[in-house]
Amino acid sequence: MNIHEYQGKQLLRQYGVSVSTGTVAFSPEEAVKAAKELGTDIVVVKAQIHAGGRGKAGGVKIAKNLDEVRAYAKELLGKVLVTHQTGPEGKEIKRLLVEEGCDIKKEYYLGLVLDSSTSRVTLMGSEEGGVDIEEVADATPEKIFKELIDPVVGLTSFQARRMAFKMNIPAKLVNKAVKFMLGLYKVFVEKDAAIVEINPLVVTGGGDVMALDAKFNFDANALYRHKDILELRDYDEEDAKEIEASKYDLSYISLDGNIGCMVNGAGLAMATMDTISYYGGSPANFLDVGGGATAEKVTEAFKIILSDKNVKGIFVNIFGGIMKCDVIAEGVITAAKEVGLQVPLVVRLEGTNVDLGKKLLNESGLNIIAAGSMADGAQKIVELVG
Ligand code: ADP
Ligand code: MG
Repeated sequence: MNIHEYQGKQLLRQYGVSVSTGTVAFSPEEAVKAAKELGTDIVVVKAQIHAGGRGKAGGVKIAKNLDEVRAYAKELLGKVLVTHQTGPEGKEIKRLLVEEGCDIKKEYYLGLVLDSSTSRVTLMGSEEGGVDIEEVADATPEKIFKELIDPVVGLTSFQARRMAFKMNIPAKLVNKAVKFMLGLYKVFVEKDAAIVEINPLVVTGGGDVMALDAKFNFDANALYRHKDILELRDYDEEDAKEIEASKYDLSYISLDGNIGCMVNGAGLAMATMDTISYYGGSPANFLDVGGGATAEKVTEAFKIILSDKNVKGIFVNIFGGIMKCDVIAEGVITAAKEVGLQVPLVVRLEGTNVDLGKKLLNESGLNIIAAGSMADGAQKIVELVG
């Protein structure tokens, strides 16, 4: 789960990590009020969406007076911002962060991520912070430094200091940078974050080290023990289909292809997506209906797939181990009857109660194309979708 920049900064503040001062605003009036309270000469009006790249896309405005604050707030609120991270459809701006203009001396990059290849939280830092960090990672990865963190010991001052030196933080600010990193690590661990990115971390003219941007991503499986984080969830920023799926405890992730997939088991679901790609198609989603799914759950899953306007065909690939093929068949039939099935449907069933499942589908009157194997099914749906 992601949160907004202003929420991330509030969280950092709670942990004594230094951040720029600002207030969230939902209207131009609130933005002007917030700017007045800040009382600084320069006020920055920042679009709050769950995506980076706002600066380059025109979502970060520098205002020199209250009239400009009002004008920028009016311009941004309600606008759909398209950044390199939003996809072409962009995201509507509904909130703004109004913060003090910062006297930036230099921008750095700092991040913590749970690295699955080493199973360690990894601190990453670079002198080349700011809006082009992706290019740095691509072209000159040697400019990004890493510290692997021992889970028992945690991030040590020694490691933080070494990072600060590698990042070329001015010598007299190294202690501030170390304090920043240790605080950041504490939030990361205590709140079960998966990623936190401070880009840019800045050194200011006044000799401060602070976060000018903050991106948090939290481990969804740990949210049950962080009610405070869960409260920060902004449903407007999330995929409606994924929200719907989470109500039924379905593992669903929406993708940008046009072949809807209904599969049981995460491994089989991934293999199915790979096989579709292998034959030149593109999956519209990842979906694992799970082992103990009821017909009702399958019905909801199928409805969610059908609600995706990009879906031009559906591939149901079930290996009935714990899951029974007839339950899948029932769910598919109910959903197709309720919402109407306008796209080709290829079904491959194997395993427990397979004959009953096939019988139900054959007698349902639905236009179903049967597949003999996973490869056969993938090939058929790719051809049908064209
Ligand atoms: P994004 O990463 O989405 O582009 P950032 O918050 O990193 O958004 O802002 C982009 C750039 O805008 C920063 O690298 C910085 O140069 C500038 N900026 C952001 N906030 C401020 C601020 N409060 N004062 C001055 N400049 C800022
Ligand atoms: Mg940024």
